[in-house]
Order: sequence, then structure tokens, then C-alpha cells
Amino acid sequence: MHRFVLPESIATGCSAGRFRLHRKESLSSILELTEKRSMIDTHSHIYLPHFRKDLPEVLDRAASAGITDIMMPAIDFGSLQEMDALTHSSIRFHKMAGIHPCDVDGGHKGLGEQLLEMGRSTDIIAIGETGLDYYWSKEYIPAQQESLRRHCEAARQLDKPVILHNRDSTDDLLDIIGEQQDGNLRGIWHCFNGTPKQGRRALDLGLHLGIGGVVTFKNAGVDRVVAEMPLDRLVLETDAPYLAPVPKRGKRNEPSFMIYTAQKLSELFGISLEETDRITTENARRLFRVT
Ligand SMILES: [Zn+2]
Repeated sequence: MHRFVLPESIATGCSAGRFRLHRKESLSSILELTEKRSMIDTHSHIYLPHFRKDLPEVLDRAASAGITDIMMPAIDFGSLQEMDALTHSSIRFHKMAGIHPCDVDGGHKGLGEQLLEMGRSTDIIAIGETGLDYYWSKEYIPAQQESLRRHCEAARQLDKPVILHNRDSTDDLLDIIGEQQDGNLRGIWHCFNGTPKQGRRALDLGLHLGIGGVVTFKNAGVDRVVAEMPLDRLVLETDAPYLAPVPKRGKRNEPSFMIYTAQKLSELFGISLEETDRITTENARRLFRVT
């Protein structure tokens, strides 16, 4: 097994192919080790106002961490304009078109046609984020379900991945994916936090699992479930500005923090950080069809 060698000052607990980073380990010294990485943040709302003040610095840190591509899920159709404003010399930005389930209120007429029209552009890499959020609203459950169906239909027709948000709604989400899956639907259950059974069902339905900061949270139990999932179906994400991984939990999340999530995955699978990055990047490239 190929192992990524950490300087002694950093590696504190190498056993059975696993290693941990010292709590005090600074991001900058991890970053030195990641200079030649090519990592994809598959879910980042970097275009939101949360980053308005220091966006150039945030993007420089992402580039230094080895992030080469940022996939940006839309919240509503207005998101696309915000996304267009982003540039960086060494990061590629990829747009998605969609309506977040928390923005669905039943008022989007002609949603399917609009998604198809926007999604046809080579600029749009995926459809989303869509999904279900029963925590946010019970009132709009039927509208959220209809919106999810329109997104899935558009993704299938356009042959692009669909990006799925899910909160307190897993079984309904997977039922609808099952109903929509005709062999042509692919996508990501973003911020995966299901049970092993739900995870396996999602995989059987052809989905990839997006692994974000929650996998680093103690007591969440997501780490144990993720460890049972096949590495070749996992992709890394931040969901920036939300859900920052430990040790940045509670802070504004940003793409460079994805390194901590990658670190956690490498511990869970007993492989090097380098290998984790390589495999998850390849998974994302295959799924989104980017080179
Ligand atoms: Zn999101």
C-alpha cells in the first residue's frame, strides 16, 4: 500500500496505515504538503455574500490547498449571475442550475422547461441543488417533491448529474430517485448522513455520496457509516459557507478546509491523504465529466 509520508513533527499516530495530525497542526503546514494536489470541491456556495469581503484571499487559500475546481450548486436562478463574477488564475469554477428545496414554494411555473433551457449550456455542469428538506418546511413538501422530479427529468435528458440536498426526508428522497431512475440518472447525495442501509440503497440507485465536514463531527456517527461505503463512489465537498469540518467547526466554511475532511477519510480508509485525494478527484471527474 502506498503511504503518504508526513514529517515526524506532524505524524503522531501511524499505525496500520493510518495517521493522525496533531491537534495543534496548522493549516499552513498541511498546505505545504498539498502543493501538487488536484482536488475538487464538489459543493461550494462560494458565490454567496458570506465571501464578499475577502473572496480573493479565500480563493488563494483554496488554490494553495490544492483545490483546482469548484462546483457551485445554485440556490435559485439568480445564483448564476453571482457565479459569473468569480475568477481565479488557478481555479476553475463550474456552475449548476437549480432551485434549492428551501426556496421552493410552489411558485415556479414551467420549472422543467427552464431547467432544460439553462442546463443545455455547456457552462452548466450539473442540475441542482434540488432535493427535499422537511425540517425547513412541511407545508411545501408536495411542491418540493414536484421540483425534485423536474430536476431529475432535466438531468436525465441533459445527461448531467443531479445534486441532492436532504434533511429529515431520506426515504422519500430515495423513493423519488428510484422512481426517476431509468438507467440514465446519475448524481450526488450531497452531505451524506444516512444509515448504512440508506447509503447502500443510494449506491444501488446509482448515486455518489458527497462527503463533507459532518464526517469529522464527533457523535454524529457519520464517519462509521462512511467507512462502510465504497471509496470509488465518494466525492469530497465543503458546502461552504456551511458545516465547516473539525477543527474549524462553527466557523465559516471555505474550500481550503476540505483538507480536513480528506484527512478524516484517509484515516477511515487507512490510506494516505494523497491516495484519498487522487481517488475522490477521479470519482468527481468521472461523474461530472471534467478533465
Ligand atoms: Zn448546498
